[in-house]
Amino acid sequence: MTGKSKRLGIMGGTFDPIHYGHLVTAEGARYTFGLDQVLFLPSGRPPHKRDAQVSDAEHRYMMTVLATLTNPYFEVSRLEIDRGGISYTIDTLRALREQLGPETELFFITGADAIFDIASWKDSDECLALAHFVAATRPGFSLEDLPESTRQWVARHQERFHMLQVPAMAISSTEIRQRVREGCSIRYLVPEPVEHYIRRQRLYNQALPPSRSGAAN
Ligand code: NAP
Repeated sequence: MTGKSKRLGIMGGTFDPIHYGHLVTAEGARYTFGLDQVLFLPSGRPPHKRDAQVSDAEHRYMMTVLATLTNPYFEVSRLEIDRGGISYTIDTLRALREQLGPETELFFITGADAIFDIASWKDSDECLALAHFVAATRPGFSLEDLPESTRQWVARHQERFHMLQVPAMAISSTEIRQRVREGCSIRYLVPEPVEHYIRRQRLYNQALPPSRSGAAN
């Protein structure tokens, strides 16, 4: 026990779009690690996706707000979106540490796939000094699936690095974007307000015209 007075989860991701896998992960981390609050942090410009097609940050922010509205423990931060430039996690953790002071214990939560190359992240050792890392895994994922360099890095930081099994992580944003493009239903994969937002804003080159309710069948 560290004697810190507050535990804050920081849910980092591109959220393009946010889905139930993310929400189940955040809620699972909240009760597993006794977090007082989970702050969802949509990336401004993800460091490893400079050339990739990522939806406008304002759309990703709005969908994250819509998805988290009904959980009193969830909040959404514009920190990385408003900072501009490339969203390095170390800059975010330093800013939050400065803002919140040493009394708040930080838990950075993200997908296990996202931390594949964490050893090469900017100032990755300092990231772990500032926050615990929680890696949400899809069913069947094992530490052995990580590259050797990452496994060594995890072994050095095992007291601050945690794996969290989340069955709902079988859902993926990539699959949802593809389903929208192909005109397939995304109902029950994302919260209803997010589904409506995607339809209304015509995100992801959707093939289907909006149905009577504005949602897909
Ligand atoms: P990504 O490469 O798009 O995602 C990799 C995998 O992790 C995907 O399967 C993704 O599923 C999953 N994932 C992503 N965020 C998740 C979350 N919060 N909970 C559960 N699963 C999640 O990863 P990303 O979203 O761009 O990056 C994740 C976080 O790591 C962001 O905060 C990003 O800024 C940070 N990051 C920092 C650095 C750095 O500082 N150098 C480098 C890379 C990433 P979905 O596609 O379904 O979300």
